[in-house]
This record gives sequence, structure tokens and C-alpha cells, in this order.
Amino acid sequence: MKKRVNPFYKSTAWKKCRAAILTRDHYLCQPCLRKKKLTTANTVHHIKPLAKAPDLALDEDNLESICPTCHNQEHPERANRKKDETKKEKRRARVIKIEGNKPMDE
Ligand SMILES: [Zn+2]
Ligand SMILES: [Zn+2]
Repeated sequence: MKKRVNPFYKSTAWKKCRAAILTRDHYLCQPCLRKKKLTTANTVHHIKPLAKAPDLALDEDNLESICPTCHNQEHPERANRKKDETKKEKRRARVIKIEGNKPMDE
């Protein structure tokens, strides 16, 4: 399957707009914030997808800062690929040290 990146995402206009939205939202994930959670956002999401509403591509009312977790939920078609990455991360994190916790001898 070929992956084509929309050239829009490389445009200066988008990069500026994206930075402005992250600043506006204080780099906080907006869907998380609505659930009273504070999560750092690193992505700006189009509420109405670019493909369906190209005229809203740079409309700040159509844009919100979002964290990777929420973003995957917004784009379920992309979730499978990301899930594999998450699995790998978890496996690595499961290695827990149990040494250094022995009771002291008197
Ligand atoms: Zn979030
Ligand atoms: Zn998105």
C-alpha cells in the first residue's frame, strides 16, 4: 500500500497555523481537557477532515491540539499501525527490577 503525504502538510501556511493552534491551546490536548485531563498535545487535528472540508484547512475553529492517543481514536483507520508500536513499548516497559528490595538483616 502506497502512502502519500498530502503536500498541504508541508506548506508554510499550515506550519504557521499549526504552531498558532498549539500556542492557543497551550500545548494541551483538547479532547483530554474536556475530560478534565491534562495531556501534552503534539499534533493539530482537523475536526472536519481535510479531504472533506479543504476550505476549512486553516480555519482555527476547525483545528484543535490533540495527543497521540486521542488522535488515534479520531482516525481509527490508522490505529492498527500505531497499536503495534505501542505493544513494543509495553513489552520493553515490563522488565521490572526486583533486586535491591531485600529486607535488612539485624
Ligand atoms: Zn488526548
Ligand atoms: Zn487528525
